[in-house]
Amino acid sequence: MKEKLLKFTPKYYELSGSLNRATYLGLNISDICNYNCLKCCQEAPKGLENRLSTERGTELSIDEFIDIISTAQDELGIQALFIAGRGETLLPGKGKSEQDFLENYKKLVNFAHKKGIHIIQFTNGYYLTKEMVDFLANKDVSLVMSIDSLDEKDYLYLCGSSDDSFQRVMDNLQYARQKFQVEEEDNKKIYRLAINMAVSHPNFEEVEKLKDFCGEDIMFICNYPIIKGDFEKNMEEMHGSENNYESFKKKVFDTSDNKGFSGTRSDGKCGYIFNGLSIDTNGNVLLCPYDISTGKLFGNVKDYNNLEEALNNVKEAMDKHNKKYSGCEMCFLRDKDYGNFPNAVH
Ligand code: SF4
Ligand code: SF4
Repeated sequence: MKEKLLKFTPKYYELSGSLNRATYLGLNISDICNYNCLKCCQEAPKGLENRLSTERGTELSIDEFIDIISTAQDELGIQALFIAGRGETLLPGKGKSEQDFLENYKKLVNFAHKKGIHIIQFTNGYYLTKEMVDFLANKDVSLVMSIDSLDEKDYLYLCGSSDDSFQRVMDNLQYARQKFQVEEEDNKKIYRLAINMAVSHPNFEEVEKLKDFCGEDIMFICNYPIIKGDFEKNMEEMHGSENNYESFKKKVFDTSDNKGFSGTRSDGKCGYIFNGLSIDTNGNVLLCPYDISTGKLFGNVKDYNNLEEALNNVKEAMDKHNKKYSGCEMCFLRDKDYGNFPNAVH
C-alpha cells in the first residue's frame, strides 16, 4: 500500500530533504471561537455571537501578523505557517462581524501565497463554505478539519456548537473532498485534506468508523488528549477512568495515517516545534502554539533583536529539557514530565 502524506507536514518536507531548523512559523492568529468544545485545551474566548457589538479579537492586528510572517521569512527562511487551534483559525485578527474576520483570514492567506509560504491550516470546518474551499484550493494550503464524531448528537455534545453545525460541516467536507484531490508521487499519496480526530472516552468506539469514512481521498489523523484547559475541567466525561489514557494512545498509533500526530516526523519527534518557532496572538514567543503560558517564559518578539535570537532561546530550553526527559520528543505537552519545562528556561 502506498504511504500517505499530508502536504506541508514535516514528513512532506523530509521527502525533499528541505525540513530544517526553522521550516515552520507556528502562529496563533485567533482569540475567538464559535464552538465550545469539551476537549478545548486552549480555553479560547467563546460565544462569538454575543461579542460582535464591539470590536473583538486578538491583541495584534492582521497587518501585525503579516509583518511577523514577513520577518520570519526574511530572518529565519520559514517555508510554512502552522496555524493550529487557538480559537477558530478562520476568524483571525480583530473585527466586529464574522465577515471582518473572514476577510482578515483571506488577506493573510493571500499574503502568504504571494510570498511562496505554504500553510497547514487547522479548523473546525464551520466556515469552509464552497466559496472558501474554492479560494483555498487555489492557494498553497493543506486543510485539517477537526471532526470528533459522525453522529450528530455526539458531535454537538462534544463541540458545544450551534444546532446547524454538524450538517454544515458535513456539507463543507463533502465539497472539500471533491476539490482537494489526492496526488500520486512514486510510491506516495500526497493529500491536502485531512480529518483530525481527538480521541476521548465518548468517541473511543468510533475511531475505526471515522477512519473508514475518510477512505482513500481524505487522510485520517487522530490524537490523544492534552490534559489542560477545558479538557481537564471535563475530565470525568472526556477521560473516563485513569487507565484509559494508555488505550487512547495505543488507538492513535494503531490507526492514524501519519503514525502519530500531524506533525510527527519520521523519527517520531514533533516537527512543528523541533523545526520551527511559535508565536502567540499578542506576539509572545512560545514553545508550542497549544501552550500560551510559555509566553511568560520566553517574552515577546519585541524583546528580541531578531527572530533568530528568539528561536535560539526556545531551542536551548528544549535541548535542556529533552536531555533530562527524553520521552517528551513526540509531544512536550502530552509528556508526564512537562510540568518541569519552566526549569529548563532559566
Ligand atoms: S477546540 Fe478549537 S474549535 Fe473547539 S472550542 Fe477550542 S478553539 Fe474552538
Ligand atoms: S508539541 Fe505536542 S501539542 Fe505542540 S505541536 Fe507538537 S504534537 Fe502538537
